[in-house]
Amino acid sequence: MSVNFYEVTCLSCKQKYKVYEGSKQYKDVKERKSNLFCCEDCGHKIRMEAIKNFLNKMR
Ligand SMILES: [Zn+2]
Repeated sequence: MSVNFYEVTCLSCKQKYKVYEGSKQYKDVKERKSNLFCCEDCGHKIRMEAIKNFLNKMR
């Protein structure tokens, strides 16, 4: 069984990583909605930063 994936470059850490068929990013690549991609690690960091910034604004 073959698994479809695209190899993309993370915008943040410049590492290449794979997005597998069935994931949200795979759809975005396929439909060319976006060419700005982040690997899971960086995506997580960015989300945490966004939450932190949000909480800082609340204070
Ligand atoms: Zn990354």
